[in-house]
Amino acid sequence: MLEIGHFIGGKHVAGTSGRTADVFNPATGEVQAKVALASVSEIRAAVENAKEAQPKWAATNPQRRARVFMKFVDLLNQNMDELAVMLSKEHGKTVEDSKGDIVRGLEVCEFVIGIPHLSKGEFTEGAGPQIDMYSIRQPVGIGAGITPFNFPGMIPMWMFAPAIACGNAFILKPSERDPSLPIRLAELMIEAGLPAGILNVINGDKAAVDAILTDPDIGAVSFVGSTPIARYVYGTAAANGKRAQCFGGAKNHMIIMPDADLDQAVNALMGAGYGSAGERCMAVSVAVPVGEETANRLVEKLVPKIESLRIGPYTDDKADMGPVVTKEAHARINGLIDKGVAEGAKLVVDGRGFKLQGYENGYFVGGTLFDNVTPDMDIYKQEIFGPVLSVVRAPNYEEALSLPMKHEYGNGVAIFTRDGDAARDFASRVNIGMIGINVPIPVPLAYHSFGGWKASSFGDLNQHGTDSIKFWTKTKTITARWPSGIKDGAEFVMPVMK
Ligand code: NAD
Repeated sequence: MLEIGHFIGGKHVAGTSGRTADVFNPATGEVQAKVALASVSEIRAAVENAKEAQPKWAATNPQRRARVFMKFVDLLNQNMDELAVMLSKEHGKTVEDSKGDIVRGLEVCEFVIGIPHLSKGEFTEGAGPQIDMYSIRQPVGIGAGITPFNFPGMIPMWMFAPAIACGNAFILKPSERDPSLPIRLAELMIEAGLPAGILNVINGDKAAVDAILTDPDIGAVSFVGSTPIARYVYGTAAANGKRAQCFGGAKNHMIIMPDADLDQAVNALMGAGYGSAGERCMAVSVAVPVGEETANRLVEKLVPKIESLRIGPYTDDKADMGPVVTKEAHARINGLIDKGVAEGAKLVVDGRGFKLQGYENGYFVGGTLFDNVTPDMDIYKQEIFGPVLSVVRAPNYEEALSLPMKHEYGNGVAIFTRDGDAARDFASRVNIGMIGINVPIPVPLAYHSFGGWKASSFGDLNQHGTDSIKFWTKTKTITARWPSGIKDGAEFVMPVMK
């Protein structure tokens, strides 16, 4: 049985805690590897390595740091097929979808190639008599990232690329469900010229996370995962004096106005609702057609498309979506579909009991559609994180707008319309972090910042874009005076410009 350990100081090391977790092939239900679960001492070993390597890396000029990422981007492209299969094998998503996962991370690495410019400071000549004032950005020192199972390529790169480009050392604690790709990324960073000890990958569960959150040498923690854990990580990191940015769950709505191009909206809903088996934090899980006629036409067009979704293992290159990640996720999603039926929603397409010949033990859930869902139902309130779309009918625009506004989560939202006034009003008023106008999954590109509002995000700086440079650096402001022969006496009042 394959044993996956850690990657510390540029080397693979076996776990020493004696605790492991099974890593499954979600398409077959087979255990394909055991992953080590780190203890406090293993986190400490990684931190010690990081601490030793970091000052020299921070002193490496930013152009040279950028060159590591240039090479890394080349290596990602050269190895794309192998990396995507490695990801799919543990996550279950299609190989093409895995490539998208990796490419979205690669784009953040491309963005940080601009680090010499991005990390430049500010300078004011003559802020006072013979006084110059300048602000510089210095690395926080050691950063840590705790990542979810659903994007094992993109999300680790969201974090380690800007952190390392800024001169930090980094400890990555990926999801224990799909740990192989993050370790391979660390190997490729070494091949690209990164000094050993700057990127360490530690596998583990809550024990490893707690060790990170209480370690005195880790200065900043970035987390992406479910909301209860995001809230916990944010609070614990802050209580331990660390800077934290923590991103949580979602319930993304898509409003379909009566004037929308319905075929375009239906195709958008199919990809955004069922792609990656609905296991994306930006998946659309609630469709809000405005007006009964729009709703009836929408449901009518969706049903045959959902029924003909091609569901398969990652080895099926024609599959639209794969299985969900674990047996527990499979049971939870089926349980929520049962709940929706019990709550009185109309189950239009039932994905329970979907079986794929030859893969009977795989964690497949068929595409599912509920109609007549109402805001008091659990299937509306909770994040299902599976291939389940709920239709909530709204009589008019204001009612439609009020749904995402009142929802606990605030990650993404979309409106489909041909009316510029409605789109503009929507984008301005809705209390959600990322808005799509005729775009169903409005994930910002690497040079903009990614982050939700409300219970989808804790902390004030987002992932990638210029926010990430601020998050992984501290500002230092220097006030300097270089006149020869200063004649001032002591000043006892607060210095001000006269
Ligand atoms: P999760 O919260 O179960 O796990 C995330 C990380 O936290 C993992 O590394 C895990 O090992 C660790 N963890 C789990 N339980 C813990 C505990 N009790 N204490 C400390 N650490 C713990 O999330 P998941 O199932 O891997 O990922 C799916 C969730 O992530 C969904 O809710 C999804 O919406 C969310 N997500 C959010 C975004 C975003 O940007 N907002 C992006 C991707 C995924």
